Amino acid sequence: MKIICIGRNYAAHAAEMKSAVPDNPMIFMKPPTALLLKDKPMYIPEFTKDLHYEAEIVIKIAKNGRHVQEEFASEYYNQIAFGIDFTARDLQSKLKEKGHPWEIAKAFNGSAPVGKFIEKSSLNDPNNINFQLSKNGEIVQKGQSNDMIFSFSYLIAHLSRYFLIGKGDLIFTGTPAGVGPTIIGDTFTGSIEGHELLKCAVK
Ligand code: ZN
Repeated sequence: MKIICIGRNYAAHAAEMKSAVPDNPMIFMKPPTALLLKDKPMYIPEFTKDLHYEAEIVIKIAKNGRHVQEEFASEYYNQIAFGIDFTARDLQSKLKEKGHPWEIAKAFNGSAPVGKFIEKSSLNDPNNINFQLSKNGEIVQKGQSNDMIFSFSYLIAHLSRYFLIGKGDLIFTGTPAGVGPTIIGDTFTGSIEGHELLKCAVK
């Protein structure tokens, strides 16, 4: 099982990071040890002084695929969830400056909480999903999946040219604007279409 993540998939988030909108999906991965299920708490690693939350829709791959065509890509995922892509922003900024890979800033243990999965078929419009993240009861990020630069289907088609996308793999599909810092004691809740699917306490 692998966790594939997409960077800068919402123009407003790219702008807040003062980053260019990419021509192609920006891809990185997290190992299975990053995954945090069942609303387990997230422990801030000792190597960062500026841990950020990034609210994202996560899609779960339903069957193996290679070179999937975009028109058939929606058959390759059937469940979605709410995830947080925790990022050591201070470390990431240093790595970015040097042009180095991001993994140590993004792929550490527990950096990928994922909440309950819901069936894609239960959604009103699977191509336009609204989601929001609250921190300590206040909404900090709101997103609409049709604001994504690259759609779920485009991402699946694109990724499957490079990797086998395997049954059970997760794709973090990028964060909308509003990312920010978190400290010990914060509690996050994530919802999709009004359903609260994720709870995560920061310790
Ligand atoms: Zn992200």
